[in-house]
Amino acid sequence: MTTRHIIDETAVEQALKQGKTADAAQIREILAKASEMKGLNLGDVAALTTISDPELLGQLFDTAKQVKETIYGRRLVVFAPLYISNLCKNECLYCAFRAKNTDITRRALTQDEIADEVKTLEEQGHKRVLLVAGESYPKQGFQYVLDSIATVYGTTVGNGEIRRVNVNVAPLTLDEFKQLKAAQIGTYQIFQETYNRNTYSKVHVGGQKADYDWRITAIDRAMEAGIDDVGIGVLFGLCDWRFETLALMQHINYLEDKFDVGPHTISVPRLEPATGSDMSTHPPKPVSDIDFRKLVAILRLAVPYTGIIMSTRETPKMRTETFALGVSQISAGSRTNPGGYAEGEDVIDEAQFSLGDHRPLDEVIGDVANLGYIPSFCTGCYRLGRTGQDFMDMAKPGLIKEHCDPNALSTFLEYLLDYGSDATRQAGEKLIQTVLGEMSESVRQRSETMLSKVREGRRDVFC
Ligand code: SAM
Ligand code: SF4
Repeated sequence: MTTRHIIDETAVEQALKQGKTADAAQIREILAKASEMKGLNLGDVAALTTISDPELLGQLFDTAKQVKETIYGRRLVVFAPLYISNLCKNECLYCAFRAKNTDITRRALTQDEIADEVKTLEEQGHKRVLLVAGESYPKQGFQYVLDSIATVYGTTVGNGEIRRVNVNVAPLTLDEFKQLKAAQIGTYQIFQETYNRNTYSKVHVGGQKADYDWRITAIDRAMEAGIDDVGIGVLFGLCDWRFETLALMQHINYLEDKFDVGPHTISVPRLEPATGSDMSTHPPKPVSDIDFRKLVAILRLAVPYTGIIMSTRETPKMRTETFALGVSQISAGSRTNPGGYAEGEDVIDEAQFSLGDHRPLDEVIGDVANLGYIPSFCTGCYRLGRTGQDFMDMAKPGLIKEHCDPNALSTFLEYLLDYGSDATRQAGEKLIQTVLGEMSESVRQRSETMLSKVREGRRDVFC
């Protein structure tokens, strides 16, 4: 099977070449168009990637900030990755889990160990996890993933429960995707890593992952299996970021044309040092900090209603800078070694890559609140069936704000009352009052009613 109709590399190269001819007036026109929040075409995106003039760069960042604030307000959805296994039969040269790497200790958590991880995350206050595994499962095969999801949903402690399990595992067959859907996952997430075929074959040198086409069609199979909430991404640092950004746009356009709905989220991991991987310490095409901020801002303008996820690969400083430019979801308090939460340490010789932000959840939440953002643990849309096309229909006219802000506040208050330190609680209560003061009368009333219920002891209050 060929999938050259999904990514047309020649069209990407041509658009990039054409983009270089854009002058300041054209860039300003594109930014004016972007501020209408209807998205951008390939040519527009190509032109924006060429910006280097500090004044235009400032205008790009300002426009992204304005779009982000209009659509997402002050909310930042918070989750934790849950690594269940580092077994893998692939040979991705940038990853510590690659099959031939003998520098790490291999481990697949048992269901009891997964339950221990979940309890630890719940005791910290997490409500959303992203389940992650290498591409090789213990003897139960794919059933191991399904069992693990059931364990996560079935493990509770005190007021703690995981209300949404998103999943990042290797491409599945249609039938396996149907089973994943039946296991009630939230988002199925998969990164193409690089959309450039040449680069792809150079960095994936063994196992099924070497098959570019099998990977890029994973989202099609997920959607055909009824999973309408999907996340895509690029591992930045493997190939030129401008190429990747345009190719990502092509992938999104393809999905929108075929399924009437694009991805729910985009992830923008940058290559981080990984044990036993020279490539991870010497990325072929490193993305500088300024280009990284640029690409986040461009994505925000290009696909304004698609969430952007920022992981703890990045430092607290970079994370904070990109919150303003368009990020809508963050991981916090993460460990990338299986068992890392319950065992309380980041065991580098079992971990996938090293982290840039090591702070515990409460510190991140306090910091986010002090910056004026509302940490949200909301899972309302997914549980009310507002996913895929329904979500987009609602999000596009801005209606989602009427639900998201009250839901963000009620889940944030749950966190503060059940898990927050004194300092975080103080910062959070102050923020809640500020946000209430900015709401329209009807939304504020709804929100206050929900907050009162949480203060009275009710949990999982959403609209
Ligand atoms: N094994 C599955 C796969 O490759 O699709 C799913 C999980 S994999 C552990 C999750 C993601 O981690 C990969 O898609 C890749 O983008 C990212 N990753 C791998 N090595 C990395 C590194 N050195 N730095 C940053 N991210 C990395
Ligand atoms: Fe395995 Fe995924 Fe790492 Fe590749 S990125 S070696 S498939 S865990």
